[in-house]
This record gives sequence, structure tokens and C-alpha cells, in this order.
Amino acid sequence: MLNIVLFGPPGAGKGTQAANLIEKYQLVHLSTGDILRGELAAKSPLGLEAKKFMDKGELVPDEVVIGMIEVKLDQNPAAKGFIFDGFPRTKAQAGALDKLLDKKNKSITIMVALEVEKQELVKRLMGRGKISGRADDQDMNVIENRITVYNRETAPVIDYYNAQKKFQSVDGMGTIEEIFGRLCKTIDKVK
Ligand code: AMP
Repeated sequence: MLNIVLFGPPGAGKGTQAANLIEKYQLVHLSTGDILRGELAAKSPLGLEAKKFMDKGELVPDEVVIGMIEVKLDQNPAAKGFIFDGFPRTKAQAGALDKLLDKKNKSITIMVALEVEKQELVKRLMGRGKISGRADDQDMNVIENRITVYNRETAPVIDYYNAQKKFQSVDGMGTIEEIFGRLCKTIDKVK
């Protein structure tokens, strides 16, 4: 099995690269952001509750996203592996993910972090906002807060995987193809 945590700040290109990676390695893509936006579109109670946090660029409570991941893992028992995109975003989520995988005799193979300069992140998010219509990509204050929340609450997840010798950093600047090439090279070394 190949289980990848695709890590990086908002706008680092995780969603774009995950789409390429699932095709190449035949993996199931689990994006907590996408799942939450689906819940929101369906106007489910979970989606409406999550909206309060998403609109401000804050994190949705750990137990909510951990529960969502558990459901998705159970729904895909025959998967060759998973790409976790936008999850885990806190050390508590990382610990919970290990526990969930352990129960199924699975584990994370590698955590790859896309490194992108802040100026480029803001440029990519604003550009995406114009196309996707995502409210959290169109407001400069929300974008700034998401990057602040990333630095404060999410970046420490690197230490968690570093301690397990699973952390790898990849340069996330350049073209989509260049970055994809770097990711594949890094993943192929541990596969
Ligand atoms: P994303 O699409 O990954 O940028 O996520 C969009 C928003 O969904 C984030 O700003 C958070 O409000 C929420 N979200 C997504 N994934 C998580 C997570 N793992 N933990 C907490 N909140 C999350």
C-alpha cells in the first residue's frame, strides 16, 4: 500500500498535484476541504456548522474532520492506497490518523510537503478565487488568516512526521509538470 500525506500551506498546489498523483499511482484522493465543501453544497448540518469556520479561514474542529476521514477509509476497503490532502492539519489529527490506520493494519508511507513562497501562495489563491468562486479565496483577510493558521497550527505537523522519519520536503515553485516530476521522484524512492 502507498499512503501519502500531501502537505503544504493553502495555495501550495496540493489539490492539483493530488489529481495527477492518484492517476499515476492509482490511489484514492481524500481531501477534507473537498468533503466539507460537498457537505456545504448539500446544506447538511455538518456543512452548515463547518461553514462558520471555513468562512473565517479557521480550522474546523478536529473531531469533525477525523470522523469524516474514518467514514471515507471504511468506504474504500479495497483501495491500493490513499492521498490525504489538507489532512492532517493539527498534531491531534495526525495522531488520530495513525490510530485509524493502525486499526486496519495500515500506515502512512510518506509525508511530502510542498514549499512555496508566501507571495506566490497569495497570487495563486486570488487567481483560483476568480475561477472557482470560493469565498475563502476571494477575501484578502481570510487568505492572510489561513496562512497564519497554517503557520501556527498546521506547520508543527511536520515535526510529527519528522520524528517518524517520514517527512520529505519538495520545492513547490515552478510549473505543474516540474513539481509533479519532483514529487514522483521523492515518492518512488520510498515506494
Ligand atoms: P482546503 O480546501 O484544504 O483549503 O480547506 C478549506 C477550509 O476547510 C479550511 O480553511 C478549513 O476551514 C477547512 N478544513 C479543511 N481541511 C481541514 C482539516 N483537516 N482540519 C480542519 N479544517 C479543515
